[in-house]
Amino acid sequence: MTAESPVAVVALGSNLGDRAETMKAALHELAALPLVDDVRASTAIETVAVTVAGEDEDAPRYLNAVALVRTRLAPTVLLRALHAIESRHGRMRRERWGDRTLDLDLIAYAGVTSADERLTLPHPRAAEREFVLAPWLELDPQAELPGAGRVSDLLDRLRSRR
Ligand code: ATP
Ligand code: MG
Ligand code: MG
Repeated sequence: MTAESPVAVVALGSNLGDRAETMKAALHELAALPLVDDVRASTAIETVAVTVAGEDEDAPRYLNAVALVRTRLAPTVLLRALHAIESRHGRMRRERWGDRTLDLDLIAYAGVTSADERLTLPHPRAAEREFVLAPWLELDPQAELPGAGRVSDLLDRLRSRR
């Protein structure tokens, strides 16, 4: 028997266009990548947009989900593939944290850590984001964010600050 492939945690977000359709297509495209063995997706949740100015009730709301991706693609190769899927769905980068058809972030890749700004692992803002932690916890109640602790504890802490 071969060893199981590493698990990558991918966060999906969309607040423009047909959000649910885009996320569904993106999940299929993820599963169809070479060297991706399995994709398990959370329920999508609707969340208020966060912009550089903070929560924006007037901006289109997001659908967010998380996928656990078993893959033998190296982290940088996987990120490149995520960017290609974003592009296929018309992702534009105009302003930081602006509205988008699709955002695919690599939250964690097994226990890998990286300080490279082109690929920081774990994702540097994941521990502060309920829209990442909650869907991740749904998929894996034992999940840990490397270097930051249990996802359930991080989520409790965030919610108690609200
Ligand atoms: P945020 O990263 O705060 O969620 P964003 O997703 O809107 O913001 P993008 O415009 O999608 O930001 O990505 C900006 C850059 O972040 C990309 O060029 C990418 O190389 C880099 N990046 C660094 N680490 C990661 C990561 N773990 N996942 C995705 N992109 C990353
Ligand atoms: Mg993002
Ligand atoms: Mg991104």
